[in-house]
Amino acid sequence: LASREKHREETVIDVGGVKIGGGNLMMIAGPCAIEGEEILFDIAKKVRAAGANVLRGGAFKPRTSPYSFQGLGEEGLKILRAAGDRYEMPVITEVMDPRQVELVERYTDLFQIGARNMQNFNLLNEVGQTNKAVVLKRGMGATVKDLIMSAEYVLSNGNQNVILCERGVKSFESSTRNMLDLSAVPNVKGQCHLPIIVDPSHATGRRDLIPAMARASVAAGADGVHIEVHSCPEKALSDGPQALLPDEYHELMQELSKLADVL
Ligand code: PEP
Ligand code: MN
Repeated sequence: LASREKHREETVIDVGGVKIGGGNLMMIAGPCAIEGEEILFDIAKKVRAAGANVLRGGAFKPRTSPYSFQGLGEEGLKILRAAGDRYEMPVITEVMDPRQVELVERYTDLFQIGARNMQNFNLLNEVGQTNKAVVLKRGMGATVKDLIMSAEYVLSNGNQNVILCERGVKSFESSTRNMLDLSAVPNVKGQCHLPIIVDPSHATGRRDLIPAMARASVAAGADGVHIEVHSCPEKALSDGPQALLPDEYHELMQELSKLADVL
């Protein structure tokens, strides 16, 4: 179903009027985690003004340590929904467990399936039975083929609204969090009709590398970028070192729009 052989045209997905794919860029921005109403509203307002068209924020966080901040759960989902409504952006949040799908579905416009759950087949089946768009992130040890087969789980359950996301894979390099595989963008596009975006934030784990990698993603043909933004990264409860400041995000968005114009 994901193959380009029978389905030559690139798929365009419509999420509440925001079109994704076929030349329409999906600009997801927001904090790693929803930390509170005031801070999320502040970030949402600023990323919206910079041109973001989807607001992100995690309510259920997949943390390496069970003692790290795990997210605000349903309280966070309510805050995210309210911020999306206030600043007129569809919202996306990660769902980690098939048992959370019904709850998360009530508050969000798109599901995010994280790298750690790319092959959680029960979760893929469950979101496949909804009709909400899904951003499916590539596992850190998954091949491009594995990623497409995971998308196939969602599609074969009836949900055709799948957006793939390259977010870096594990490598021997220790100065970055993961290694961004930009070739995944044209590689996926050659064989699959679904949109593919890039997340330079989780791919590099470093604020200083994000602008160049975001520009490279758009130049490589990505259908958008997913970027973490926080107004006070040193106090962020997760992923502070990779969060852009709102002003930095604004500047990057201007560069990306110039770049998209010349492509
Ligand atoms: C995230 O987007 O906050 C996240 C945890 O990403 P990934 O699943 O790519 O690590
Ligand atoms: Mn994060």
